[in-house]
Amino acid sequence: MKQPNAALSRFGTTIFTTMSALALECGAVNLGQGFPDEDGPLEIRRAAAEAVLAGPNQYPPMRGIEELRQAVAAHDRRFHGLEVDWRSEVMVTSGATEALACCFFGLLEPGDEVVLIEPLYDSYLPIVERAGAVARRVRLQPPGWELPKDALAAAFSAKTKLLVVNSPLNPVGKVFGRDELAFLGELLEAHDAYAVCDEVYEHLTFDGRRHIPLITLPGMRERCLRVGSAGKTFSMTGWKVGWVVAAPSLIDAAARAHQFLTFTTPPDLQRAVATALAMDDGYFSGLATAQQGKRDRLAAGLTQAGFRVLETAGTYFLIADFRPLDPDGRFTDDDLAFCRHLTRDVGVAAIPLSAFYGDAPPQGCIRFCFCKQDAVLDEAAVRLQRFFAKPSVSHCTDVIG
Ligand code: PMP
Ligand code: GLN
Repeated sequence: MKQPNAALSRFGTTIFTTMSALALECGAVNLGQGFPDEDGPLEIRRAAAEAVLAGPNQYPPMRGIEELRQAVAAHDRRFHGLEVDWRSEVMVTSGATEALACCFFGLLEPGDEVVLIEPLYDSYLPIVERAGAVARRVRLQPPGWELPKDALAAAFSAKTKLLVVNSPLNPVGKVFGRDELAFLGELLEAHDAYAVCDEVYEHLTFDGRRHIPLITLPGMRERCLRVGSAGKTFSMTGWKVGWVVAAPSLIDAAARAHQFLTFTTPPDLQRAVATALAMDDGYFSGLATAQQGKRDRLAAGLTQAGFRVLETAGTYFLIADFRPLDPDGRFTDDDLAFCRHLTRDVGVAAIPLSAFYGDAPPQGCIRFCFCKQDAVLDEAAVRLQRFFAKPSVSHCTDVIG
């Protein structure tokens, strides 16, 4: 039998699917895959329901309905002072995942090089490689996750076409500062390269920090494709409404892929997201404040259980070093095994940090998601504290047998 595509086969099933399935099987509190356990604002859901009933429910325009493209432009002006022509510089996609794929397929030629920053979101590498490009990975180091400037400079070459920048960064919650972005901008200009800026967590920044889109820095307007998603900002990850904002020639390139990947995104959800993006500033700041409280709640619970919790400045996630809880070194080289152990034996699911690396990942740390109800975070903390205070029988055995 002939084999399916090798570039994709090598990645198997995503860690998010794997850990959510195990959490379900074991009745574990799922702090793995990043999704809130409460739906977003009722008014947005009502807008979607009304749009479904009122119709039309036929193909909307390929680049998105006018109201949503206008709303994205107005949002970017309001929050980032970015002037965007909604007709030529905005394209709606089926989630940020599709937006990213459109950027990669629309811009890359086989043999082009793409600079990726590790830890990285799991969809980048498979799609970059499937597009025939060569990934040049540069690694941030804990606990500060500062930009390794020399390694970055060395990763760029005449063949570099793209840099991917995810800020705020999943899974570690780093929010890139202006100086770091300026440094990246200099590299882009020096090598005549573009940046795909994955900014899906733009409204999830904490402790007074603000997200700065790379596209707003001098010289970056023509080089950046800014990717957003309604899933994170409105706590409805299942909706899969995303967008790209970029100069017309870059949007044209991404649209050439989009028209053959999904062509459009459900019009009712687009209309609801247009309403959502126009909500007042209080909604957006309230979202960040609420998530910051959850971050602190989970961090305190994990610390009490014995984890060493790293600082996180944004996103839904925090990283915890589990080595203090593994004095015998049973899981030293296998954070996935530790996550399986937590899920099965403690009843709390998390994601191994190693899943965010191409190869030879660092070990000893796992990612917890905190965008959950307080009672759920507390239950996870209690289970962990109880278990690590006094190891007990397998949780999964309890539930199943
Ligand atoms: N980028 C990052 C960094 C993410 O964490 C996610 C996951 N939600 C996505 C992109 C995908 O977003 P969407 O669900 O809108 O496709
Ligand atoms: N972005 C989510 C996370 O990091 C997962 C999305 C997915 O399951 N593909 O947890």
